[in-house]
Amino acid sequence: MFYCSVMAGVLVPLTRKNSGEEWPESLRPSDLRALGWTARPFTEFVVKVHSRCNLACDYCYLYELGDASWKDQPGRMSLSVAEAVGNRIAEQATRHGLVGVRMVLHGGEPLLAGEPHIRRLLELWTELITPVTRLSFSMQTNGLLLTDEMLDTLARFDVSIGVSLDGGITHNDRHRMHRNGAGSYQAVAERLHTWKQSVHWPLFAGILAVIDIENDPVETYEALCAFDPPKIDLMFPHANWHTPPPGVQQAGSAAPYAAWLIAVFDHWFDSPRDEPSIRLFDAIIRLLHGEPSSFESVGLAPVTLVVVQPDGSIEQVDTLKSSFDGAAETNASVFRESFDDVANNTSIAARQLGREGLSDACRRCAVVQTCGGGYYPHRYRPGSGFLNPSVYCADLLALITHVSERCGAT
Ligand code: SF4
Repeated sequence: MFYCSVMAGVLVPLTRKNSGEEWPESLRPSDLRALGWTARPFTEFVVKVHSRCNLACDYCYLYELGDASWKDQPGRMSLSVAEAVGNRIAEQATRHGLVGVRMVLHGGEPLLAGEPHIRRLLELWTELITPVTRLSFSMQTNGLLLTDEMLDTLARFDVSIGVSLDGGITHNDRHRMHRNGAGSYQAVAERLHTWKQSVHWPLFAGILAVIDIENDPVETYEALCAFDPPKIDLMFPHANWHTPPPGVQQAGSAAPYAAWLIAVFDHWFDSPRDEPSIRLFDAIIRLLHGEPSSFESVGLAPVTLVVVQPDGSIEQVDTLKSSFDGAAETNASVFRESFDDVANNTSIAARQLGREGLSDACRRCAVVQTCGGGYYPHRYRPGSGFLNPSVYCADLLALITHVSERCGAT
């Protein structure tokens, strides 16, 4: 039985369709609305300005895992789609009186769209959205096309730039490769070094690195620190109960990612120097101290992020594509539906329910306020869908317990 406590703290049983459908398809939005649940407005819009990539990383959830929908997408987002996106965001901001929204330029590799097109997109969105709300831009890129001209344009619109890099040359080049199999580290490092000499270095938001437990944790961390990132995002590789994490034979049978992360945490926590923010650790520490965190990978905050593809189709968080073909689809388009229409999608609702949208095991867990069941795509198991603990459950429990002990939060 699934319960929802959205009304005055009273546990109210929710009806679930007895259709054999995987969670959250078995959850009826009408039940939620009848109980007083309303969708939170989206405030973060991940916009896929280009659907292809100039690297061929072997762990990529878009091109190498369960989903092949990118093949149906145009290469880059056209100006007519971009205009519809901007109008929909302005509509959302106006309807909900949002004080600010964030657009994340994403791909594939967003910079493949080219400087003139990126400039036109940024101009268009600024023109359409800033009359109604504050607009901030960020971008996630592999860094290969960060030319001086591109940086000039991104600086004009104050786009904060995150770069994907997995460590030093040996760490990074295990997975982040060019199409011919050659490692990408050298080219990215050169771009970063050139950028660092320029006036545009303050746009550097940090590094996103996917964990490989074959790499030494402290060496990997120190290699990333060599670029002076203000922030480091250490990401679990995409996995679920059907596709176990790399290095784990059977999902749930071992927790090697905790040991890796704890080694980095202790090194970072005990360091006498000024260390970069590590998003996962900072979020856990905040949550342990009862402070809010908007980081989607831990905690119980409702997800208010949505994705728009180059053809204008609206999707959920696109890392869901690591689960199964079509997992992120909503069947909505900026040309037909508003973002409010999409917010009432069952799958979106499930990610805005907090503790009430978790599996029984998570609901009973001692660290649920901090963990929040882990990153939603990592909960997938064929048959029960997303109503499971994270496939990284044991790792999260060990890491949170360790951080709690080190911070004196227990
Ligand atoms: S540690 Fe495991 S059981 Fe506990 S909330 Fe996280 S995923 Fe759920």
